[in-house]
Amino acid sequence: MATIIRDVFLSFVRVHILHHAAKERVFGLAMIEELRRHGYALSPGTLYPILHAMEQSELLKCEQKVVGGKVRKYYTSTAKGRRMLAEVKERIQELLEELLED
Ligand SMILES: [Zn+2]
Repeated sequence: MATIIRDVFLSFVRVHILHHAAKERVFGLAMIEELRRHGYALSPGTLYPILHAMEQSELLKCEQKVVGGKVRKYYTSTAKGRRMLAEVKERIQELLEELLED
């Protein structure tokens, strides 16, 4: 896939994550399933570093729980993440209006 298209799709993936993590706690494998439903085929090797980077940027906070003997990382949105989502939504709205004009 062309790099630029991949970059665009990976940005959409980040927006999806922000959207879901603002509503409920999400974890890697469930998020991969959810994104597959939207037509994005992501491997854990691609998604996990994105989640981690979003945690480092304080858009998500992480909580670890042991599930079936394994540590599972749950992510929820921070206040900063919710503010970012609100800003992104406005920009998406503005972009969509222009795209759908023609
Ligand atoms: Zn979704």
